[in-house]
Amino acid sequence: MKILREVDWPEVRSRYTCEHRGGSLSDFLNQLERSGEKYGHNWAEVLISREEALSVRLPPHDHRPSPKLEVGLLVCCAAEIFTEPVLGNDTAECLGRIRSHRNRDFSRTLIFLEFCDDSLRHLDGLHRLLAYAIYGLTQEIPAFVCGLPALSASSRLLE
Ligand SMILES: [Zn+2]
Repeated sequence: MKILREVDWPEVRSRYTCEHRGGSLSDFLNQLERSGEKYGHNWAEVLISREEALSVRLPPHDHRPSPKLEVGLLVCCAAEIFTEPVLGNDTAECLGRIRSHRNRDFSRTLIFLEFCDDSLRHLDGLHRLLAYAIYGLTQEIPAFVCGLPALSASSRLLE
């Protein structure tokens, strides 16, 4: 993980709002704010590698008729659940959203994570992370992370 810089909550909120423009986001924004409050809003902008993205722990997710994901599942394990035959099912809301990110430039997206118990946990961007894993993308992904223990420019954690 490359830590780029510290960011304050107003910037996190504003970037989140940009990322989700057009959607209904107030509940999710409140959740994000509560997550940040647990760590005094010590947010940082980072770049995470493919390996780190695949090890992000996911929240429970039930986007019927898509397969249900249990809490704490790693992105790589969730990606295996969404095999290609399943991805052929156009009626599934979850799968449709994963596929919509297939050709996305992940260097221009932003996901939101929490660092807790020595692992990265998902706060926002589940379908993007699954698309990134399933379609074998390798570029680093920009993320805003709260709860990192040490914040200093260009320091490297988890290596
Ligand atoms: Zn879903």
